[in-house]
Amino acid sequence: MQVGGRAVDAACGERIPVLNPATGAAIDDVPAGTAEDIDRAFDAATAAGDAWGMMDPRQRGKILGGAARLIRAHLDELAFSLTAEQGKPLPEARSEVQGCANVLEYYHSISGSLRGQSMPLASYGYALVRREPVGVCGAIIPWNMPVLIAAWKMGPALCAGNTMVIKPASSTPLTTLRIAALMESAGLPAGVLNIVTGSGAAAGAALAGHEGLGHLSFTGESTTGMEVAARAGRHATPLTLELGGSDAMIVCADADLGAAAAGAAANRFYNCGQTCTAVKRLIVDEAVHVPFMELLKAKVAAIVTGPGTEKGVTMGPLNSPEGRERIASAVRMTQERGEGTVVMGGGIPRGAACADGWFFEPTLVADVAPKAPVWCKEVFGPVLPVMRAESFNDAVAIANASEYGLGASVWTRNLDTAFQGAESLQVGVVWVNQHLRLPPDVPFGGVKQSGVGRENGADALEQYTRTKTILIRR
Ligand code: NAD
Repeated sequence: MQVGGRAVDAACGERIPVLNPATGAAIDDVPAGTAEDIDRAFDAATAAGDAWGMMDPRQRGKILGGAARLIRAHLDELAFSLTAEQGKPLPEARSEVQGCANVLEYYHSISGSLRGQSMPLASYGYALVRREPVGVCGAIIPWNMPVLIAAWKMGPALCAGNTMVIKPASSTPLTTLRIAALMESAGLPAGVLNIVTGSGAAAGAALAGHEGLGHLSFTGESTTGMEVAARAGRHATPLTLELGGSDAMIVCADADLGAAAAGAAANRFYNCGQTCTAVKRLIVDEAVHVPFMELLKAKVAAIVTGPGTEKGVTMGPLNSPEGRERIASAVRMTQERGEGTVVMGGGIPRGAACADGWFFEPTLVADVAPKAPVWCKEVFGPVLPVMRAESFNDAVAIANASEYGLGASVWTRNLDTAFQGAESLQVGVVWVNQHLRLPPDVPFGGVKQSGVGRENGADALEQYTRTKTILIRR
């Protein structure tokens, strides 16, 4: 844990092992933070708050920009650490670490942009609206993209002049701790950023329910998010919830089928399928279903599964044995109930390289029924279910028949169809002829059970401030 600029032990003295998902072996352990540790971190963040909040915003931005440069300078070390604790192949880990630096650089670039307002309300004198930091911000992070998601919260919160307490997922705390130390080396004052490691039930719940937080941002499963929201609600803490997703990808009859097949495989099996905005439901116009499936099978067959540190590997293991069991059981139940046909994969890969870790084969399930377990709930692993649609309108209706609303993509050569999809899909982000890409410049977040509030972009910077109205009469 890092509290007030120092590495500290948990108040209870206990530690949690961090395991390598490719081997199951322990690579390190971290303090099992408790409510008492969250209190300590909150106090350190409060003590650092005034000086950080009053610093020139451009100076804060410069520190974030300097941190981004240091992160890039340590790219290999950070990527190895991320692969070791999370499991993803090294090229993906490098790209995530670079994404973290990109986000900090983006907020550096807009650090001088926060504006207040003045209004000509003559009978009230001078009316001024000022934007102020909200105070100590809590952030609870999942394990699937731990350093990118931490950056989505740190970038705007710190840039706006707030201090933070972050609770990483218990299986992926190491790279985040290292990045926090690099941020202090770049000039972030002690106490501005505090990291409390530990379980969701102890440290996470204590942070979510902490009195006095100016904002809480949670990313994780929808059910956990509801629990977190209930705790935060006790103190009326302003909240951002980035929750689960079950993104649809619609392949129209006029799509570039080769590009769509490559896009479906890349954006489902990236990060072993453990991405909130992965393609989780593939909807294909029945006019092109047969040729498209042939192209898709070839792309899936080319995926190389193995430990993320091995050259040529394009898909690593799942992050936990429980995660793998959930995936295996969803595939098993779908088959048993006759609600889909497994056309590729569906089991644990053989071979020495995959013997000990939590690997699962890239799996393709065709002709799924709407109630199939691999379709109707978020499947957080390497399983791609496919359904046919009779028309574009039918495809949109299928896509919208979900409790989730994070992202969706439309693959077409027709601009009219693209705009029709953009307007009618009930999600927070629509891609056309691409999927999953999220530049830091634009707002990102979901509707329905995929969340509340937005991250990224200038909107997120404003979200980490509150307005104060000042009326002056002479
Ligand atoms: P999770 O909900 O199990 O855990 C997320 C975090 O919450 C972890 O740090 C965990 O320790 C903590 N936590 C668990 N129980 C808690 C409690 N009772 N109180 C407070 N904190 C608690 O999620 P996960 O398995 O780590 O992540 C996968 C999920 O995250 C998927 O559903 C995925 O779609 C979602 N996700 C969403 C986005 C997005 O931007 N919408 C991005 C990435 C992941």
